[in-house]
Amino acid sequence: MSISLGMPTLPGQQDPARPGAVSRPAGVPGLLDRFNRVATDLRVSLTDRCNLRCTYCMPAEGLPWLDREQALSADEIVRLVGIAVRDLGVRQVRFTGGEPLLRADLIDIVSRCAALEPRPEISLTTNAIGLASRAQGLADAGLDRINVSLDSLHAETFAALTRRPFLRQVIAGVDAAAAAGLGPIKINAVLLPGVNDHEAPGLLRWALERGHELRFIEQMPLDADHTWSRDSMVTAADMRQLVDAEFTLTVAREPRDGAPAERFIATARDGSGLTGTVGIIASVTEAFCEDCRRTRLTAEGSVMSCLFSHEETDLRASLRTGGSDDDIADLWRGAMWAKPKGHGIDDPSFVQSDRSMSAIGG
Ligand code: SAM
Ligand code: SF4
Repeated sequence: MSISLGMPTLPGQQDPARPGAVSRPAGVPGLLDRFNRVATDLRVSLTDRCNLRCTYCMPAEGLPWLDREQALSADEIVRLVGIAVRDLGVRQVRFTGGEPLLRADLIDIVSRCAALEPRPEISLTTNAIGLASRAQGLADAGLDRINVSLDSLHAETFAALTRRPFLRQVIAGVDAAAAAGLGPIKINAVLLPGVNDHEAPGLLRWALERGHELRFIEQMPLDADHTWSRDSMVTAADMRQLVDAEFTLTVAREPRDGAPAERFIATARDGSGLTGTVGIIASVTEAFCEDCRRTRLTAEGSVMSCLFSHEETDLRASLRTGGSDDDIADLWRGAMWAKPKGHGIDDPSFVQSDRSMSAIGG
């Protein structure tokens, strides 16, 4: 493995196998990396499967899904989350996928993770299909917060973008989550040029009227079809301009605290008094790698230190061959120690990973 994005800043020992590199100092608590970042935010992909086919994420025909036995079981997930919160300093756990609501045992996983000590904050990122009937159960199980992906409020655009005609179910899911007390709900919207970018002010108005926080997300090179291009994406600067016709934006003066979104207070220009928070996640044009606090587990139990990493560390083999919690924690620490300094999307040598967003867990 070669890691060459900048020099480490931590004390450590010279690694004889890699002149100039610094090996992980012994006895360091938590998920520290060579650039002094500590991961406290865990994203767990519960499945690589999905019932939508968003053009920026999945191909129309889907992907070769993991077999049932390849994916982690509920017991394995709860054990890994337990190691993360007890031994590795993780404080927030977000379940994602693929589509996490496709797991029949989701409520069981949430309630068992909510019983861990120390109890992590537990959230879910979902496309909300089927959420209407499960939101209250998830809230009762201990789910704290929810993010729903919704890129268009027009049935035809939604169907073209997701390749499925399920807009009504998504909106019913958002309403059910609000009724179940899972707020403040965050709505994630990826904007694509000429497809839904003109909807930016309308999406913001819809979210603010319901007390939800909208987050515009820059499209990243994580589509299975590898069609992403830097020249044809809606940038954070474009997003600010798109909403400007209908809203004023003022930077929310608050510490970002490792959060991916830069937050603004949006106020409608029409004098209606409509106001609230909007976030912009500028992973490409205003990258926030230096303050990244995330560690990721794929559905088959590999650690990825970065969404764009080409390296993975398999924890499942250790889980299934009698590895102790200490063994697994040590593998996890090693994976995070090697986290690259940045995703390098702007570097001419950047090579898109073979894994799409759905296969990593976004
Ligand atoms: N299926 C769930 C959903 O859509 O919310 C959870 C998994 S999905 C991979 C998580 C988030 O990743 C979604 O908000 C989605 O919009 C975002 N996403 C997927 N592909 C992306 C891409 N290429 N660039 C930016 N965001 C992406
Ligand atoms: Fe499925 Fe989420 Fe990917 Fe859309 S973004 S295809 S809902 S995993």
